Amino acid sequence: MINSETKLYCLIGNPVSKSLSPEIHNLSFRLNYINARYLVFNVDNDKLKEAINGIKALKIEGFNVTIPFKESIIDYLDELDDNAKMIGAVNCVKSIDGKLIGYNTDSLAFIHTLEENFENFPELKVAVIGAGGAGRAISFSLAKKNVKELLIINRNIDKAKSLSEDINKYYPDIKILYRNLYDSEKIINQYDLVVNCTSVGMYPELDKCPINPILFTENTFVYDIIYKPEVTNLLYKSEKEGLKTKNGLDMLLLQALYSEVIWMNQEYEILGKKEIFKKGFYKNK
Ligand code: NAP
Repeated sequence: MINSETKLYCLIGNPVSKSLSPEIHNLSFRLNYINARYLVFNVDNDKLKEAINGIKALKIEGFNVTIPFKESIIDYLDELDDNAKMIGAVNCVKSIDGKLIGYNTDSLAFIHTLEENFENFPELKVAVIGAGGAGRAISFSLAKKNVKELLIINRNIDKAKSLSEDINKYYPDIKILYRNLYDSEKIINQYDLVVNCTSVGMYPELDKCPINPILFTENTFVYDIIYKPEVTNLLYKSEKEGLKTKNGLDMLLLQALYSEVIWMNQEYEILGKKEIFKKGFYKNK
């Protein structure tokens, strides 16, 4: 029941019409008996400041941020937690006594999902394709786990270079290489894990594949953080090669649940919940 005590949480971004976040959060609020609702707001690219002022004026206690505001939001926040500061991108904001504090739960979620599949991070050689907001969060979190080697691949090589340099400032001992997509084809077979952090494979580029999995070794684990479609072209081709694969749904669910942990200031059980959410998730999509 909605009443005068009902709290509002929301997502701001553009576009947001295909977001699954309202379904995740509203179901979670119901399951946890939290008197709250979650809505999405499509904010015009030049209206971020006005949107933040509105959020402050209405005393909304927490919100998520998505494309294209994950970096530009930082100018409007009062504080960043250490992780978000290092990454330079924010996807979760909490208001404490009117002060807006930024967090990055994409990175927490990604590492959580990876720990379910890998144990020995210092032995792991990882190739990350994409140096946008998600590529940054994931590359920093892999560096924090002290992986053996990180290859950052991006269409725009300058962004890959600057991400490598940023990571090296925080983690000088990590071995990092950067390449453009074409140059990476010759060395991609040296990596145990390949993570796609580009939007290639997502609508409208459903038929595209960021790199051909025929180039990977037979033991390469292919992780595509796209969650819609359930099986991207990259995952389809990788599965045909007999490779182990994972899509981005677990990460999406966990970044949402980690956001709630930050907003509600309570550590309710996360892992078991993930399975409840996953049931039937793609059925109606
Ligand atoms: P972003 O900041 O806009 O970055 C987009 C990245 O994709 C850049 O590296 C860009 O390369 C690359 N790219 C775009 N079109 C390309 C093309 N045609 N060929 C080669 N590279 C191309 O976006 P983001 O926030 O990082 O998100 C990236 C993807 O991750 C999206 O699909 C998003 O849905 C997904 N994601 C999933 C989760 C999850 O929870 N599962 C969380 C966050 C993001 P350039 O730099 O060269 O332009």
